[in-house]
Amino acid sequence: MTAKIGLKHVHAIAPYVGGKPISEVARQFGLDENKIIKLASNENPLGMPQSAKEAILKAAADLGRYPDSNAFHLKDILSLHLGVSPDWITLGNGSNDILELTARAVAQRDDAIIFSKHAFAVYPLATQAVGARAVEVPATSAYGHDLDAMLAAVKRESSAAKLVFIANPNNPTGSYLQADAIEQFIAAVPSETVVVLDEAYNEYLLPEQRYNSMEWVRRFPNLMVSRSFSKAYGLAGLRIGYGIAQTHLTNLLNRIRQPFNVNSLAQAAAIAALGDPAFLKKGFDLNRAGYTQLTQAFEKMGLDYLPSSGNFVLVKVGSDLEAGARFNLALLKRGIIVRPVANYGLPEWLRISIGLTEENAALITAMEHILLVENQVSP
Ligand SMILES: *Cc1c(COP(=O)(O)O)cnc(C)c1O
Repeated sequence: MTAKIGLKHVHAIAPYVGGKPISEVARQFGLDENKIIKLASNENPLGMPQSAKEAILKAAADLGRYPDSNAFHLKDILSLHLGVSPDWITLGNGSNDILELTARAVAQRDDAIIFSKHAFAVYPLATQAVGARAVEVPATSAYGHDLDAMLAAVKRESSAAKLVFIANPNNPTGSYLQADAIEQFIAAVPSETVVVLDEAYNEYLLPEQRYNSMEWVRRFPNLMVSRSFSKAYGLAGLRIGYGIAQTHLTNLLNRIRQPFNVNSLAQAAAIAALGDPAFLKKGFDLNRAGYTQLTQAFEKMGLDYLPSSGNFVLVKVGSDLEAGARFNLALLKRGIIVRPVANYGLPEWLRISIGLTEENAALITAMEHILLVENQVSP
């Protein structure tokens, strides 16, 4: 029987569920694709930078050849950008690839991988994929990472503690950790335990929130910082991200990654995007304005939300365990796709990616209508 095929720990995995594609929602609800608004996957509402589009068209002429397996040109530029040596950089098929490669390189069956409750969904997936034990640490009352409790878990697991995932800011909560708290945490973790600091939303941090994690990479041989081109750089569809760590850790990833894990178009686009600070600035400003627009509207509607340091906001749309699903369905019927987060242990909440001004406005109008209807039918 087919049940006999496959490893037990792989059978136990619940596959990742992404934001619903626009085409599927259009079909399911009989809507016009062009009128659907997707605020579900923390993509850049500006789309991809024009500079990257042009670079891709140029690079397309050469697709008969394999990509540069070592991404010489891109690593060179990243190296200047980050102030670390190119051989401290590993490129990934999205930063997701870096998270998984790190788990595969350092942990196996029965080892412990530690992360926070309500943290990014890929951490438990990467843990289960290597057959390791997920140690989920309760979050703070503000839904953030509780670094003291996480450190206690690392210590409790002792030599089994092979890896810790920290997201700053975290998705889906948007929670942010102060730099000195992270630094103290890494310093206190035993050097045999690898810490992945996931900075997928790093570019959205306010100037006063920024910190230099490259300095920590220089100090801590067990630190891997991961970054992405999917969010602020607008290249989610290309799948490209990278990790920064000292050479011994970087070399581990290079041993097990696919030789051509990052395609030529992605490499060319990333180079162009890194040379386009105006795009990054435009996206940053748009995100700040959209955050204010959405959170002011939530306040007016009397809805709780979590302060977010990313390009998305978690908003509480009810107080029962079906609230998120119900509100989500009502939004889908109105052609708006957001992200239910019951799988993150947050069934009363929805995660809204910050969109263009007019997209945010349409979402707000739809939410106001839904709340009005709900209040009319409830006793
Ligand atoms: C989106 C996201 C990533 C992964 O993005 P990639 O597209 O794989 O680069 C990693 N971490 C967090 C917290 C994210 O939200």
